[in-house]
Amino acid sequence: MFDWGLKSEPELQLHERAIVATRGKVLGGSSSINMMAYTRGHPGDYDQWVQDGAHGWSFKDVLPYFKRSESWERGGDDVRGGDGPVGVEGGRFRDPLLDAWIEAGQVSGFTHTDDLNGLRPEGFGRTQYSIRGGRRSSAAAAYLKPALRRPNLHLVTGGHAAKVAVEGRRATGLEYIHRGSRVRVIADREVILSSGTFNTPQLLMLSGIGPAGHLQEFGIKPLVDLPVGKNLQDHLALSMYWERREPGPFHRRMRFDRMSASMLAAYLFGAGAATELPGGLLAFVKTCPDFVVPDIEFMIRCAPPGARLWFPWLRPAYRDGFGIRPALLHPRSRGEVLLRSAGPLDPVRIHFNFLSEPGDLVTLLEGFERARQMACAAPLDPFRGAEIAPGADVRTKSDIVEWIRRTVATVFHPTGTCAMGSGPSAVLDPELRVLGVERLRVVDASVMPRLISAHLNASVLMIAEKAADMIRSGRREINGQLTEGGRHDVPV
Ligand SMILES: Cc1cc2nc3c(=O)[nH]c(=O)nc-3n(C[C@H](O)[C@H](O)[C@H](O)COP(=O)(O)OP(=O)(O)OC[C@H]3O[C@@H](n4cnc5c(N)ncnc54)[C@H](O)[C@@H]3O)c2cc1C
Repeated sequence: MFDWGLKSEPELQLHERAIVATRGKVLGGSSSINMMAYTRGHPGDYDQWVQDGAHGWSFKDVLPYFKRSESWERGGDDVRGGDGPVGVEGGRFRDPLLDAWIEAGQVSGFTHTDDLNGLRPEGFGRTQYSIRGGRRSSAAAAYLKPALRRPNLHLVTGGHAAKVAVEGRRATGLEYIHRGSRVRVIADREVILSSGTFNTPQLLMLSGIGPAGHLQEFGIKPLVDLPVGKNLQDHLALSMYWERREPGPFHRRMRFDRMSASMLAAYLFGAGAATELPGGLLAFVKTCPDFVVPDIEFMIRCAPPGARLWFPWLRPAYRDGFGIRPALLHPRSRGEVLLRSAGPLDPVRIHFNFLSEPGDLVTLLEGFERARQMACAAPLDPFRGAEIAPGADVRTKSDIVEWIRRTVATVFHPTGTCAMGSGPSAVLDPELRVLGVERLRVVDASVMPRLISAHLNASVLMIAEKAADMIRSGRREINGQLTEGGRHDVPV
């Protein structure tokens, strides 16, 4: 109901599996359904964007916008923001297992940091979450809700954007479907698309902006030939699990009566066990010390995949477990988003092309080996039972590769399909304006020229903050002065 229900076409390197590509279909988009991990990425990620032609997006340039967007619970300083719209809290969940993982990381040569959003976000660190006062700080809660009373904001829910109206080379409005009718909104100044990595390229292509040959296949007249939908990237992760010798704190919390009380406390007071996630530890590591940015992330889980509510005599308790998810941070493989038809309600075709570049498998294997090595290190001896996934019998390289192909999945961080920059792969200029079309901008995860060493939400909010400044200064350019525009909906 809150998910677009997208999945990829069969992935050739993953035994032709269709990979689920969850996206939030709700106000706040995926920020309203995500795991709330708040990670900005490594300074080197943004400096790399500049090398991709995204001038003005170096870490020095984006840092003020990260600060502006967040309210970090420990307060603001040169690096962190203290009074922005998005609440950021450190993980509250406590489990001795987490300390053991940090030790296991140290034994394996990985450092520990006190702030994974500091200037050197490397090694193990406690996860920070986009949570304020025990409640999700989504884009809708942080930005939209407080702005709803503004007279120049009109929110339509249940509408489906169908096409950008373009006259000549200028965007003049947007057509959307609402309750079965097609409606056009006329833009006084500019049109801004924020439909995400899969649906923003769809909207552009339906509007004649995209690869000319592909548009012609569907009878769409190409207005501007651009590599819209290309350059698709996503983080791939493995799920490795072990049984836990004795049930841990999360397992105890999952007893039905305890969790019911916790849910009530969370609802009424925004506090207590139900406001804490059973993880709280991430690591961003370099498998080679010479790398500029980390190439592997480890996500620690203090619950097994089958964790659920239980109650004595009525529903048996599940066997407790714990896990580690190694993720490939900078895949070389590139996929694409294509139209399925010229109809706006048809989902796009997604080809991730995961593992099509052999180097990606090599890095994932490295992540797998290091994760298993850490999990088998002495500090975890008191916790570790039998290996559940992939299982002790998966030992040889070919067995591991086979298991990877059978089980690897995305952690839902698609990006890059409307990349900003310069050169042949750019769709947008560094001011996020669609090349070759006036008054049309994109502001969402699709604009990233390449993936960052982080979960994407904090970076998307930073992009939106920076875009707001660009839009304000663009408004001055268009009108000569700051004025509020009107809005005219007309049936098409
Ligand atoms: C399950 C899950 C877990 C995640 N966990 C984390 C995490 O812990 N930390 C983190 O940092 N990131 C996480 N992410 C990723 C992060 O949430 C996204 O990268 C980010 O929210 C993307 O923002 P966006 O604005 O690009 O797109 P979206 O958030 O997807 O927003 C797009 C919006 O446009 C709307 N839309 C799309 N098409 C149309 C149309 N045709 N008409 C009208 N509206 C349309 C959608 O309904 C949606 O509201 C997760 C994502 C998922 C799905």
